[in-house]
Amino acid sequence: MQIADNMVVSIHYTLKDDNGNVLDSSEGKEPLKYLSGGGNIIPGLEKALAGKAIGDSVQASIPPVDAYGERVDAGIQQVPRDAFAPGQEIEVGMMFQAQMPEGGTQNLTVAAVDGDNITIDANHPLAGQTLHFDVKIEDVREATEEEAAHGHAH
Ligand code: ZN
Repeated sequence: MQIADNMVVSIHYTLKDDNGNVLDSSEGKEPLKYLSGGGNIIPGLEKALAGKAIGDSVQASIPPVDAYGERVDAGIQQVPRDAFAPGQEIEVGMMFQAQMPEGGTQNLTVAAVDGDNITIDANHPLAGQTLHFDVKIEDVREATEEEAAHGHAH
């Protein structure tokens, strides 16, 4: 069975940056499951895996435009420490979710701490990076009606 829209795909993967550093891996964990065509994974990886079958190994290098986008300077802002909850530890690299005025949440990373000035970065930590994936396709099956309706794998 080949990967097409509305199938549930299980993969093992290793993700490396341009320097060969491992950024993420499913090794030692359950395979990652996604609903193909559901926007569950980055577009470049979805495209690279379309048409592949169980047992296939796929290598894909995905530019930022098909991954987490380019870094944008507008994503970087300074906020006062009292924008955070009182007593909250704030360290560089810490990630948290902010409630947005228009609803929804935004993931933010603390980029710098200078006294009471905290620099936060709304760019995805992998923005601006070309991502190198090694993927092994473990399973492909038709999505259930419920999965297709929900837009994700169960
Ligand atoms: Zn569901």
